[in-house]
Amino acid sequence: MIYERVALIGLGLIASSMAHAMRRGGLAGHIAGHARSAETRAIALELGFVDSVHASAAEAVAGADLVVLAVPVGAMEAVAAQIGPHLRPGATVTDVGSVKQAVIDAVAPHLAPGVQFIPGHPIAGTEHSGPHSGFATLFDNRWWLLTPLPETDLQAVSRLRTLCEAMGANVDEMDAAHHDLVLAVTSHTPHLIAYTMVGVADDLRRVTDSEVIKYSAAGFRDFTRIAASDPVMWRDVFLTNREATLELLGRFTEELFALQRAIRTGDGPLLHEYFTRTRAIRRGIIEAGQDTDAPDFGRINRGQTG
Ligand code: NAP
Repeated sequence: MIYERVALIGLGLIASSMAHAMRRGGLAGHIAGHARSAETRAIALELGFVDSVHASAAEAVAGADLVVLAVPVGAMEAVAAQIGPHLRPGATVTDVGSVKQAVIDAVAPHLAPGVQFIPGHPIAGTEHSGPHSGFATLFDNRWWLLTPLPETDLQAVSRLRTLCEAMGANVDEMDAAHHDLVLAVTSHTPHLIAYTMVGVADDLRRVTDSEVIKYSAAGFRDFTRIAASDPVMWRDVFLTNREATLELLGRFTEELFALQRAIRTGDGPLLHEYFTRTRAIRRGIIEAGQDTDAPDFGRINRGQTG
C-alpha cells in the first residue's frame, strides 16, 4: 500500500480509472470520493471503485494523505478553495488536468504551506467520460507527467511517482510551461483541428445528403472519435492553454497555406517530401510503444487523448 487514504475529487473517466488501477495493485487503503452530482456519487459507490462517497469535497478530503483533483480544469479553483482549509498537514495534493500552469495558478494559493502540491497529467484517456467509463489498464505503458514546484518536498514527489508507476505508467518530470507547449503540439491543437474538420463535414453533409457519414473513411472516422471528446473538458483546455495553442495554430495555418499552394501549382515533389517526413514521425511513435501498428490506427483497444 502506498497511501492509506486517497480522496478523489471528481469521479469521471480519469478518477475511476485511477481507482480501478489502485485496487488492482492494492495501492490505497481507503478510497473516498466526491463528485458534483448525487447521481455520479451513487454510481461510483454502486460500481464499487470507491469505499465511501461524500456530498462535499471538504468532507471527502478529511484525513486523506493523497488528494487527487480530477475535475475539468475550469473547476479546479473552486474545488481547491473548498478543500484548502480541510486538508491534513503534510498531505499531498495532485491533479490530473490537461493544462498545468493555469491549474497551478488556480490551486496553489488555496493550499497551506505544509501541504505538498504536485501537479500531474496522465497522457492517457478515451473519448468517453463519466464514472462508467474508467478501466484499470488505462495508464499501462502511458506517460504520466509531473510538474512539481521548486518548493515541493522530494520525498512526496517520489511517493507519488511510485503510485503512478504502480498504476502502470511511466513517469517524467518537467516544468509547467514546457508541459503546456508540448501538449499543445501533441494533443490540444490536433483536437481543435479534428473539431474543425468534423464541423466542416457536418456542414457539407447537408449538401451531400448523409454521404459523409455513410462512406466515412478511416481518416474522417478517426477525426470524429477525437471530436466526440467531452466538450466541457476541451473548452477549458483552450481557455487555459491559450498562448501555446494560438502559437501552434498560427504555424499550422502557415503550413496549410503552403500545402494548399502546392496542390494548386501541382507541386508533386513538395507534397511527396512532406508526406514522407510525416510518415517517419508515425513510425517513431510506434517504435516508442505509444501506439500499435494495427490497421485502423489500433483504435480498437485504446485511444489516447488529454
Ligand atoms: P469526466 O469523465 O467528465 O469527469 C469529470 C468529473 O468531475 C465528474 O465526476 C464531475 O461530476 C466532476 N466535476 C465537474 N465539476 C465539478 C465541480 N465543480 N465539483 C466537483 N466535481 C466536479 O472528466 P475526465 O475525463 O475524468 O477529466 C478530468 C480531468 O482529467 C480534466 O481536468 C481533464 O483535463 C483531465 N484529463 C482528461 C483526459 C481524457 O482523455 N478524458 C486525459 C488526461 C487528463 P458530475 O459527474 O457529478 O458532473
